[in-house]
Amino acid sequence: MRRGRCSRHSLFVMTIPPQAELRPYRVTENRPIAEGCFALTLEPADASRPVPPFQAGQWVGLHLLNTDGTEWARAAYSIAIAPHEYNGSIELGIKREGDFTARAESLLPGDMVNLQGPFGVFTPNMHAGRWMFFAGGIGIVPIRSMVRELAASGVRGDIILFYSSRKASAMPYAEEFRALAASHPHVRFVEICTGECPKGWKGERGRIGRKIIETYAGDVSCGEFLLCGPKGFMEDLTQTLNALGVDAGRIRRERFS
Ligand SMILES: Cc1cc2nc3c(=O)[nH]c(=O)nc-3n(C[C@H](O)[C@H](O)[C@H](O)COP(=O)(O)OP(=O)(O)OC[C@H]3O[C@@H](n4cnc5c(N)ncnc54)[C@H](O)[C@@H]3O)c2cc1C
Repeated sequence: MRRGRCSRHSLFVMTIPPQAELRPYRVTENRPIAEGCFALTLEPADASRPVPPFQAGQWVGLHLLNTDGTEWARAAYSIAIAPHEYNGSIELGIKREGDFTARAESLLPGDMVNLQGPFGVFTPNMHAGRWMFFAGGIGIVPIRSMVRELAASGVRGDIILFYSSRKASAMPYAEEFRALAASHPHVRFVEICTGECPKGWKGERGRIGRKIIETYAGDVSCGEFLLCGPKGFMEDLTQTLNALGVDAGRIRRERFS
């Protein structure tokens, strides 16, 4: 009797998708990036197995280890670099909050962690034609990856980044966005301080409302809106955008909690 292609005698090979695997990584750098925030640079422990391909805006599971190599705890962190910048290591931008991030902040070059991923669908539609990003605090991390990817990709449409923080000193990567906007005519960077602004502050003040959006984005009838920040920040912005006529299908959001 001839066997069908799927007979029970066929040999099945199970393959695990690379992003589902837990892989060891080495810390190569841990540097402060703003008040209360730090960046970890991580490279695969096995150089022959690079970071699985990722899209701008995706995240990884960071697993911190006990001294015997068993897992201590895990949490999700967005990849801060753009895919085209990958050169053997990735960067995570982290805000110090509770026990987990305190332990992550104490990591030293040479220390080992495990990573799983990349995961996530908070990625830009490269064909949207126009992109308006809204970052609240550490929500800048996945947005940094997307803005840098779009800016380098040669897309023609406007890229507008609204970046809001209570404190101007606690805005990771702000300086590099000023430089990016200065060197890319289609990139605009709008800094907003919602708390006590430093002397000589040149950015906007207060919450991002209709006026700020209309001033910098103008016509909102086309393009994509990508939001990442605290819950209240995203709820308020979603309402404001809806009131401006932006339908839900053009609003993309990533929640950190
Ligand atoms: C998709 C996504 C992307 C994110 N991206 C970012 C990002 O780019 N940057 C960023 O700063 N944050 C990001 N976050 C938030 C991040 O995942 C954490 O929630 C945040 O950093 C909280 O840190 P924490 O120190 O308060 O954690 P904690 O609340 O202290 O702990 C986090 C985890 O560790 C465990 N844990 C804590 N202490 C102990 C202990 N003593 N023993 C055993 N287990 C313990 C907890 O049970 C929990 O599972 C993201 C979240 C999501 C969902």
